[in-house]
Amino acid sequence: MATHLSREDFVRMDEKDILAGCRERFRLPEDIIYLDGNSLGAAPIAIMPTVARTIEQEWSRDLVRSWTAHGWIELPLDVGAAIARFVGARPEDVMVADSTTVNLFRLVCLALAIQKNRRVILVERDNFPADNYVAQGVAELLGGRVEIRAAAGDRLAADVDGDVALVLASQVDFRTGRMLDMSAVTRAVHEQGALILWDLSHSAGVVPIALEADDVDFAVGCGYKYLNGGPGAPSYLYVQRRWQDVARPPFFGWLGHASPFALEPQWQPAAGIRRMLGGTPPILSLVALKAALAAFDDVDLRAVRAKSLSLTSHFIDLVDERCARYGVRVVTPREDERRGSQVSVAFEHAYPAMQALIARGVIGDFRAPDLMRFGFAPLYVRYTDVWDVVAILDEVLSSRAWDRPEFLRRQYVT
Ligand SMILES: *Cc1c(COP(=O)(O)O)cnc(C)c1O
Repeated sequence: MATHLSREDFVRMDEKDILAGCRERFRLPEDIIYLDGNSLGAAPIAIMPTVARTIEQEWSRDLVRSWTAHGWIELPLDVGAAIARFVGARPEDVMVADSTTVNLFRLVCLALAIQKNRRVILVERDNFPADNYVAQGVAELLGGRVEIRAAAGDRLAADVDGDVALVLASQVDFRTGRMLDMSAVTRAVHEQGALILWDLSHSAGVVPIALEADDVDFAVGCGYKYLNGGPGAPSYLYVQRRWQDVARPPFFGWLGHASPFALEPQWQPAAGIRRMLGGTPPILSLVALKAALAAFDDVDLRAVRAKSLSLTSHFIDLVDERCARYGVRVVTPREDERRGSQVSVAFEHAYPAMQALIARGVIGDFRAPDLMRFGFAPLYVRYTDVWDVVAILDEVLSSRAWDRPEFLRRQYVT
């Protein structure tokens, strides 16, 4: 679709944007357009004084007393409660611990412990490898009791049957930005007596999620993507209340004990989601994540979704209008209800083209084999960024600026 808009129109969209003021809550270099918040969110300004205060006024002054005096010991559950609004859950059904990979392991094992009589884990074929590797590892660990079956995202509902114990899927696909209908897929899975574990890494903070209303069994997600918790921020997990007290986690964390400081010889599970806790939590990282979430405090998440859809649809239209002639193709769904908050563009020379963009201050990323990925975090991405990035992409493609040895050389992290 031709847009025939000008940069002036995008300036006016920024002027009318009710979220425009949120950008000041982040520290971003002046000369950069950052479209990789789906990989590592930008740094919220509030993190720095909050972490400094934790070190200066809590750790260095109150020392070990801080576990109680400053509520450190409750932070995994407190921060979980703060994440609940992003995922449509009750505060007591979410907790924060470890990495997404570790939480996937916890919940895949928990689901299989509940579904003792079924032997298949149905995974989404194109999911991020971390998720499917965990499933493969669990299958190996269980020595043949379970097997993995894979289906494309839009086939999950059709391929689930009475052998399936658990379905493991991402709401938003990390490659293409395609969003699944969480409500419909969850219903189809339950109709076959299976359970579902949703990975929300590419959705929490940008798309509406209703874990409780959709009756989702389990969910996990990253703290460092759209939630901006910082590099390696801890991950969150959700367990639907009906499953919290019926099975035991795959490893018995001492903080998940019913009374950890009684130091009893035998592990006994704590009530509720607390039993999923492992060992001593990373307090500085939890404090940072909590401060990052506060950037959304007065923000209506529906406004975030509306701006996200507007940014991505304008970007798609401009890429079609200005760049299709160079052989690039938008692979992200154009229908709003099927799109997350990123746009992926296929191009034969995607890797060097992204390197050329980065050299010009436009930071997106590359995903093998041929995708340029652009993530739109509505709290700090501007409408004029959309216009400027497409103008720069047009220039890179028309001049073949990507065709240089320094851009063709692959780095380890892409
Ligand atoms: C980002 C991401 C991960 C990353 O997991 P880590 O344990 O934090 O490395 C896992 N799964 C999905 C779907 C992701 O998008």
